[in-house]
Amino acid sequence: MTAYPRLLAPLDLGHVTLKNRVLMGSMHTGLEETGDWNRVAEFYAARARGGVALMVTGGMAPNPEGGIRPGAAGLYSTQDIADHRIVTSRVHDAGGLIAMQVLHAGRYALGPDCVAPSAVKSPISPFAPTALDEAGIETQIADIVTAAARAREAGYDGVEIMGSEGYFINQFLVRHTNKREDRWGGSYENRMRLALDVVRRARAAVGDDFIVIYRLSVIDLVPDGSTFDEVIQLARAVEAAGASIINTGIGWHEARIPTIATSVPRAAFVWVTRKLMGKVGIPVIASNRINTPQVAEDVLASGAADMVGMARPFLADADFVAKAVAGRADTIAPCIACNQACLDHTFSGRISTCLVNPRACYETELPIEKATNPRRIAVVGAGPAGLAAAITAAGRGHAVTLFDRDSRIGGQLNMARAIPGKEEFHGLVAWYETMVAETGVALRLGRAAGVDDLADFDEVIVATGVVPRDPEIPGQDGPHVVGYADLLSGRVEAGRRVAIVGAGGIGFDVAEYLVHDGRSPTVDLEAWKREWGVGDPSETRGGLTPEGPAPEPPARAVTLLQRKDERLGKRLGKSTGWIHRAALRMKGVEMVAGVNYERIDARGLHVSFGEERANPRLIEADTIVLCAGQQSERGLADALAAAGRAAHVIGGADVAAELDAKRAIDQGVRLAAML
Ligand code: NAP
Ligand code: SF4
Repeated sequence: MTAYPRLLAPLDLGHVTLKNRVLMGSMHTGLEETGDWNRVAEFYAARARGGVALMVTGGMAPNPEGGIRPGAAGLYSTQDIADHRIVTSRVHDAGGLIAMQVLHAGRYALGPDCVAPSAVKSPISPFAPTALDEAGIETQIADIVTAAARAREAGYDGVEIMGSEGYFINQFLVRHTNKREDRWGGSYENRMRLALDVVRRARAAVGDDFIVIYRLSVIDLVPDGSTFDEVIQLARAVEAAGASIINTGIGWHEARIPTIATSVPRAAFVWVTRKLMGKVGIPVIASNRINTPQVAEDVLASGAADMVGMARPFLADADFVAKAVAGRADTIAPCIACNQACLDHTFSGRISTCLVNPRACYETELPIEKATNPRRIAVVGAGPAGLAAAITAAGRGHAVTLFDRDSRIGGQLNMARAIPGKEEFHGLVAWYETMVAETGVALRLGRAAGVDDLADFDEVIVATGVVPRDPEIPGQDGPHVVGYADLLSGRVEAGRRVAIVGAGGIGFDVAEYLVHDGRSPTVDLEAWKREWGVGDPSETRGGLTPEGPAPEPPARAVTLLQRKDERLGKRLGKSTGWIHRAALRMKGVEMVAGVNYERIDARGLHVSFGEERANPRLIEADTIVLCAGQQSERGLADALAAAGRAAHVIGGADVAAELDAKRAIDQGVRLAAML
């Protein structure tokens, strides 16, 4: 008997039966744009082998003006169709089903030729769109329909028509972006016309035995967005127009409310999808921050949806469903919703991968095969780099011993998990614990390994991590000055007024830790909704509360400082930096850039500004926390070198500047794949 009876139940769509209730949602990985169709095919085939019922590709542009950026992949020519056939046939050989997403970006297209219902520029694009005339609208509809027909020709099992997230079709639906007064604007009937024409004509073009998913925005999270009555009206009309499934979309890309970041509670928006249940006869899919089989099962059991959509969890682990079927959910590499290697890569024009699983989208380039010559390998340091190296090497058949002077594994991951909003790191450490046991890694914890301990190993991997950089501020030896590690480990308590020296990833994390009183809104959905101003779209348009964000008062008065004269948090993740900045602003954290640290005394931190050290200011503080970056911990590496022992040095012990878990894990996996 499975623990996930609803998740693993088949779903009959009439002409085809899905083998379970899991949809792999669309992700723009950048793979299609590489032109390496074998690589694209292997990415999807691996997930098909992993048991997911139905996958949706990244968004394919119906025409150049609708592409998310110049050069975005689409299906324009017979060559394109032949390329996509490589993917569909490989997926079918693997026993999977795949639908192609048709994505017209409208005013979100990052190019001067972008088009939209009205010439209303998006706040997240530098380009103002051209308002379409009647003929232009017909061209766009015809192109979307043609793309759907080509998808069928290319062997896809269906299409997903992207009608949410604030893209082209969504732009017609709401007055926020549709100011037209002709038959495409004004009344809701008129604003729906484009969406319904697209679905009706696409259905006519592809025939009855083809899946047509319509992605429908159930909560826009932008001013003047849809009401829920309009959502229901649209859903019913979309069903009547021929859609087979409604996939729900949450929030426009320009929304100032996080929808998928790690600080968003798990399954935070399924209550909105639940409101659609019973209003239509076709299956409804819930999505956003669903990342374990149990969360997914609970969503289905609560009656919130007929299927669940998960996207990033399939980057973290291609075998998500197969492992759930096997009753081994504990071995599923967890998506921690960090966005660091997926969305942040997409936004910077790089191929997506996964912080937890560097093989994602590199399936053909980073094979992990059984070792031909199993050896004894010592890994010193059980942080992310060492753990990744140890389980990868052991999984390949090497005999691996993992040392750490701490009594538990995790290294810096244990600090991350102390931060409110970063609870997903608990799951990541738990997964490493499982995989250490599963792959047979021998653990030696609670004792620093020296050169002599490593004598009997064929290979030594040094992953000793980092030590905090000393900022050398006069007076920093005072009793009220603490390092971030002491604070986050709970060894010391901060006072009511705190100054933080350094505003990198850890400075921001420490500020987040300090403004909370131990309660995290991420594990309290109602508190989180209040904090960000998420209301009910049945009561307010777009689901924004009239009063806006209403966070709990901060637990402490916090000042965050850096020496660089630039906006604080500028270098944080592309897709998440704004969330960290907004969250701290809401808590009244003062952010001060361009400082010189003059001295610390009993009253607090004295700073000045500029080369002339002008405008002296005292930041009154009961506690001063040092978060001034890291330096490599190379004691063991140097001792091994002095003893003439070769070693591989990885992670923070190799390079501390700008170190993060993504690079550490990537380096660990790649090294272990080669040994
Ligand atoms: P970091 O990001 O390199 O930031 C170090 C901070 O210390 C900077 O604000 C820097 O700004 C300041 N600093 C550097 N040298 C200093 C000195 N001599 N005296 C005073 N201040 C100094 O390092 P981190 O914050 O320790 O984080 C380590 C890594 O962990 C990060 O790079 C990040 O990738 C990762 N991390 C990521 C996240 C995340 O959310 N993705 C969260 C936590 C940690 P100024 O030089 O301008 O003063
Ligand atoms: Fe999830 Fe982070 Fe991996 Fe993206 S990079 S799939 S958010 S764990």
